[in-house]
Amino acid sequence: MDPEVRRQILGSKPASVNQVRLHVFGIDSDSDEVTGTPSMNDIIHPDASPELQALTFAQRESIYHESRGHDGCYKAILLYQHLFDLCPAGQKLSIQIKNEAPVLVDPSARKILEFKMNGPKLLTISTGLKGKDGAILTGLGQESSHSVLGFSCRGSGVVDFVVDMTRMQWGEAGRGSFGETCYLGTEAGFVDIMANVCDGVKEVGHDATHVGPSEHTMTMEACATRVWERWNNRDKEGWCDYCGVGASEWPLLDCSACKETKLRYCCKEHQRAAWKLHKFTCEKKKT
Ligand SMILES: [Zn+2]
Ligand SMILES: [Zn+2]
Repeated sequence: MDPEVRRQILGSKPASVNQVRLHVFGIDSDSDEVTGTPSMNDIIHPDASPELQALTFAQRESIYHESRGHDGCYKAILLYQHLFDLCPAGQKLSIQIKNEAPVLVDPSARKILEFKMNGPKLLTISTGLKGKDGAILTGLGQESSHSVLGFSCRGSGVVDFVVDMTRMQWGEAGRGSFGETCYLGTEAGFVDIMANVCDGVKEVGHDATHVGPSEHTMTMEACATRVWERWNNRDKEGWCDYCGVGASEWPLLDCSACKETKLRYCCKEHQRAAWKLHKFTCEKKKT
């Protein structure tokens, strides 16, 4: 990235920003593929610099999402939308918060909650990616948009739970109090944790139920089809409870306590990271 462009970006950042993160990646000139991002499967190239080798698992994960999660909220909603379209009529979703009793919600009664974020606290510059001057920026505008999905267990349009799949676009600041990489809880709780990443958040819409067609439609349809296949074949084809890597791609370990619902992990680090939440539902704790 041109140092002058970088100076200009830093010179125009909102006063609320208290942390700037810069990620520089290589681009393979033949394919335009971005290279050099840490892998979610925790592999660092053996020739990588000592600084990169020294990053902890959580730091690598944070960089991975922070550099790739820009504008991901509508894509995540689109993925759910296509997945729910594949479900049979009357399908319910079971939602469990920590050790509370699971509740059933009707996915067809969901809503898209739209928010305006004001005063970003984090500015991320990811260069080597396509976009403005070869960089993608998060947090440069004083105001930006964010959306989550709302679900109801009581019906009549009341939103009881919201899910935000793209919290890690804000790196470590986006994590929940159990180290989780997405948020599932009440709308009030969601507004509270948004204070970690911006000065204020305001709901500006809750009437939309669907994302319209876009250049992401086909990709997200294909992803949803794969998720649905995997779900229906879950006894044979497991996946990592933390990162989602499939048993056909990676050898998986089982949670030794869970027999009824098999929970599997690609590595000890992902098992440890997932345990902060899994401990509430693990069969070991139920007896
Ligand atoms: Zn994993
Ligand atoms: Zn378990």
